[in-house]
Amino acid sequence: MLGCGHDKKPFGAPVCVHLRIGREPWLSYLRWYTGHGMDMELLCSSCVAEREKGQSVTTEFVCQECFEFATTEIGDLEGVRGKPEIHIRSEAFNPQLRMTALPTEVGKIVDISPIISNGRSIWLLLAEDGWLVKFDASTGAWNRLASTSLAPEPDHQPWCGHILKRHLHSSPCGDFAAIVNDYGRCGQIIDLKSGQVTLALDGITIRKRFRFRSRLRRSRAGSSPFIAPPGTGSTCPILPPEPC
Ligand SMILES: [Zn+2]
Ligand SMILES: [Zn+2]
Repeated sequence: MLGCGHDKKPFGAPVCVHLRIGREPWLSYLRWYTGHGMDMELLCSSCVAEREKGQSVTTEFVCQECFEFATTEIGDLEGVRGKPEIHIRSEAFNPQLRMTALPTEVGKIVDISPIISNGRSIWLLLAEDGWLVKFDASTGAWNRLASTSLAPEPDHQPWCGHILKRHLHSSPCGDFAAIVNDYGRCGQIIDLKSGQVTLALDGITIRKRFRFRSRLRRSRAGSSPFIAPPGTGSTCPILPPEPC
């Protein structure tokens, strides 16, 4: 039997009693890393204060439904305490850096992002002309995946000395990429399998959407997500741009 009283499988991280029995939003809570791997407990602020004073605080596992209710309808994540475990590799490893020549055919490269691939050194490159290029640093092989174009934002004012420049992010598996105007407002999410833009980003619209989401969340008028996941193929925002 779980802490929530349900006879189901435990889900997520153990939670404090206040998160478990809470029925009204919003209860501030924190992730407390236990020092064992990435194990954590979820504690409300008062339980964190108790633990920091050295007092005993108990947590219990709950089922998936109760965990999701506690973390999305009741709790409001505010921070992190404790530390995850740090693994130490005992074997020596070769610290020698290996230089790899980038493909000159793709032109000037403005940003680069790693893609996780078993034992291989795979990278996504953003070329100055907007092409996204997959590059295998082990073999030198490369191929163009998609073409991107961002609005130049000529009225952009440098913020705190940061000038506008394109920045590349890729999903760890390399299925999607986001290209954004760093310190600007425009961006695109691209499906790298099809080469199509799945979401056009606009900083102003997104800020409005997040404010709207927050209001909806707090009024329990709906449930997340409110922004199209990158794989939906939608180029339209799910949320209406107003009201904010
Ligand atoms: Zn608590
Ligand atoms: Zn339950």
